[in-house]
Amino acid sequence: MKELVSGILIGLIIFLVVIGVNVTPLILITLLIGGFYFFYIAQGTVKFENIGTDIRLGTDITFEHIGGQDNAIKELEEALEFIIKPEEIIKMGIRPLKGVLLVGPPGTGKTLMAKAAASYTRSAFIATSGSEFIEVYAGMGAKRVRQLFNDARKKAAKQNSQSAIIFIDELEILGGKRGSHNSHMEYDQTLNQLLVEMDGISFRTDPRILIIGATNRADMLDSALLRPGRFDRHVQVTLPDKVGRRKILDIHAQNKPIENENILDDIAAATFGFSGAHLESLTNEAAILALRENTNSITERHFNEAIDKVILGEKLDKKPSHTEVERVSVHESGHALISELLKPGSVSSLTIIPRGRALGFMRKTAQDDQYLYTREELEGDIMVALAGAAAEEIKYGNRSTGAASDFEQSWELAMKIVETGLSSIGVVNRKDTPEEIMYKECKEIISILEDRTREMLINNQRGLFSIAETIVVEESLNRERFLELLQ
Ligand code: ATP
Repeated sequence: MKELVSGILIGLIIFLVVIGVNVTPLILITLLIGGFYFFYIAQGTVKFENIGTDIRLGTDITFEHIGGQDNAIKELEEALEFIIKPEEIIKMGIRPLKGVLLVGPPGTGKTLMAKAAASYTRSAFIATSGSEFIEVYAGMGAKRVRQLFNDARKKAAKQNSQSAIIFIDELEILGGKRGSHNSHMEYDQTLNQLLVEMDGISFRTDPRILIIGATNRADMLDSALLRPGRFDRHVQVTLPDKVGRRKILDIHAQNKPIENENILDDIAAATFGFSGAHLESLTNEAAILALRENTNSITERHFNEAIDKVILGEKLDKKPSHTEVERVSVHESGHALISELLKPGSVSSLTIIPRGRALGFMRKTAQDDQYLYTREELEGDIMVALAGAAAEEIKYGNRSTGAASDFEQSWELAMKIVETGLSSIGVVNRKDTPEEIMYKECKEIISILEDRTREMLINNQRGLFSIAETIVVEESLNRERFLELLQ
């Protein structure tokens, strides 16, 4: 808008100059108005722009719409009692709770929880993000914080509500440790203002304000923000487990024609590590695929394809050359063969249809959620990762760049073995152990496993080549076809 007005004004002045009008008074008046406007913005009397998003009271997001976060919701509900029952809190002489910090990975439902909290307490709700306070002009961030609190109070009054919830996403940007930023004076002033506003919150004044902060880097927050009386209630919002994923799938599948609800059990089992946002996207993608095929209902196949899409990205139109396709087939067959030999039943399907950054992909069958690994299991995963390049080497006598991410993954897994004290050097302290020793041990682990993988592939060379040759023609193999070829 500002750009448009300036453009029109400049155009008008040039036009007047061309037709011979004296424009000096017009320029002076414009400068005068501009000067006043800037002055008032700097004083904070004119709103630069609204901070945060206003969400109306009674927003229809409730805790019922959030899956897999039962513990987090329970903890948050407890904290919200402070808003719902102020008299009791005051009577008991309890220090009111001013801030709740939701800590967890992206897409796990932190924003949803804040919205549901507003619904639950019938509070006015205003949502913003830490990055909205980062300004080029010194002092603007602090003004924006003041404005945020004023807006919350006004909105509560307008909505006739006794309380307001301010949600600040990416709190680490606004509340990072003081002195840690380059332009630290500006950041520090903004944070100081937030601390001042929080200290000013009182339960005896109207409206009662609760701040809900969200971050996935609680370690970056300034300790002053975390001390009692500020964000002293921390709620962990974690990635959902299998039961949680099933609930989230149910929530997002509610308005979609699913062929058979029971397939969601398999999908929940196959999506270990997915966040709520991933699962929402998954149901959406499955519905889009069904629509594209003009089918009336969404089937398990649509869901499975949507999983690949969410993990790897959209199918690519680009077609690799025939030589590349052959190499990718050998590579993927290597992964699949070693996986099946080490853990029978572990291969669900493999494909050489390019998707996202991958030219091919082997999908594992659904397993139970796993949080602990033995050395043998980690070694197995390393062998599966190394098997792609090893298979290429057996077939062509050399490797390609296609194995770069496999090597990265195997190195990370080897590092995990060393760091968790499962390697031959025993228990180590990451900080005190020289890089050289860690490096040597990882290298040793990978080298031994590389030999083992190669040997296993050579011993099963016929199966390897038969799978590779078939997949060049058929592009994708499901489990049954894969087993048939293996035998
Ligand atoms: P970020 O940290 O990236 O801001 P977030 O934790 O705030 O993410 P949300 O914005 O709440 O995540 O979630 C994004 C979307 O993902 C939601 O609108 C919802 O559709 C879906 N979603 C995420 N978590 C859940 C959940 N637990 N239950 C149901 N849906 C969820």
